[in-house]
Amino acid sequence: MNKYNTIIIGAGLSGLMTATLLAQAKQKVLLMGHGAGAILLTTGAIDVLGYHPADSLTPLKNPFAALDDFLATRPAHPYRLTGADAIRRGVDALKRIATAQGLPYIGETEKNLWLPTALGAVHPAMLAPKGLAQGDIQRGGRMLLVGFDELRDFYPALAAENLNAQKLGVQAKAVMLRLPAPVDGKKNITPIELARAFDDPDFRHRLVSVLKPHTKGFSRIGFPAVLGLHHHAQILADLESELGKTVFEISALPPSVPGRRLFEALKAEFLALGGEFLLGMHVVDGNISDGVAQSIRTESASRILTHRADNFVLATGGIFGGGVHTEMNGSVREPIFGLPVAAQPDRHRWFTPKFIGENPAGQPVNHFGVRVNARMNPLRDDGSVIAENLFVVGAQLAGFSWTDGRTGGGVALASAVAVGKAVAKNDMG
Ligand SMILES: Cc1cc2nc3c(=O)[nH]c(=O)nc-3n(C[C@H](O)[C@H](O)[C@H](O)COP(=O)(O)OP(=O)(O)OC[C@H]3O[C@@H](n4cnc5c(N)ncnc54)[C@H](O)[C@@H]3O)c2cc1C
Repeated sequence: MNKYNTIIIGAGLSGLMTATLLAQAKQKVLLMGHGAGAILLTTGAIDVLGYHPADSLTPLKNPFAALDDFLATRPAHPYRLTGADAIRRGVDALKRIATAQGLPYIGETEKNLWLPTALGAVHPAMLAPKGLAQGDIQRGGRMLLVGFDELRDFYPALAAENLNAQKLGVQAKAVMLRLPAPVDGKKNITPIELARAFDDPDFRHRLVSVLKPHTKGFSRIGFPAVLGLHHHAQILADLESELGKTVFEISALPPSVPGRRLFEALKAEFLALGGEFLLGMHVVDGNISDGVAQSIRTESASRILTHRADNFVLATGGIFGGGVHTEMNGSVREPIFGLPVAAQPDRHRWFTPKFIGENPAGQPVNHFGVRVNARMNPLRDDGSVIAENLFVVGAQLAGFSWTDGRTGGGVALASAVAVGKAVAKNDMG
């Protein structure tokens, strides 16, 4: 008997969601990751399909209405395997899990939110933490965008000007403030430091007294996404009550505070369900014999450890996450089980000559990944299954790039749902 039903390698969005869904189905699950993955860089919002055609300047209002058209020209996109139902279930599951952990998520499965970005562009997402969701541009009205002298890389005047120029139905204005003590006068505060300051009620109170005189005539007040690390829901409620206005966040440059909150919420839910979580664990290799994934090995300071389970899930990301390695000689490999990677064999065609703008689908290199069937089992080049108890989820899947139409979060969630169904008959999503 193995100690674990399933070991999941990778602690990003897809690994955390797969682990939580399997733990909900009463599986004994071990989740291990070298680091936390892209989730700490993302906005914390879940993109399902934001643009079609990919180079369109108009964000989609309803992703599912455009999905078939989008997939028609993307024969290998993972959505074709998971189906739209798994996307909906994944979105619902994340909403339930995060909200239960005190991090309310807002969004309807047939509708995109249009979130303002720090540049004043529109980020279409299906689901977002309440703080970001309340900035939905489609609500219209007058919004005041607040920046701080001490926080570099967030210029509300730029965001406001760009939003206004697009005539989206919002009128935005900017104000820059000096932060109150204890972070006043800091030269270059990070979003995480500032979020910690917001956790302190006295700090918020001092800030509100400086801000309030500027808020007359505005229905919504937008802050960079720094409204607390640990008490975000309370902070949002307090600011709204003190200012008498709807308050929202705008995602800023990494490190992402909403991404960090989402990571902590998913981790807390998984641990509460009895899951085991090892962060800082590097998996060096895995063993498949007789068509069965048998074990993986991790490297620690003193020795190599072998871990066995009935099932294994690779949630190791694409090139960015470390799940796909590329070599100077043009070889592309999946480093743990040595799975075949669908990739362009000619190294000179991994990138388009112009880095941006030439190919709406993005750089070819970002589409590299492992081919799977509808159960998310990895496939050989001839289409046969490599191991029935091995599964691949998220950014490591072949045939898509998260920037192409913006489908990253949706693929992570839908593939987690597919594995939940295949491994533990967890059809609830
Ligand atoms: C900068 C940026 C911003 C983005 N913004 C958004 C957004 O706002 N909304 C959205 O929907 N999508 C966004 N995306 C896309 C989205 O983040 C990804 O599609 C999705 O999060 C991928 O998650 P993942 O879990 O599959 O992979 P990753 O997040 O890459 O996680 C991979 C995990 O595997 C681990 N790992 C890799 N190799 C090993 C090993 N050998 N041993 C142990 N662990 C290992 C890593 O440490 C990590 O924990 C963004 C992506 C990036 C890069």
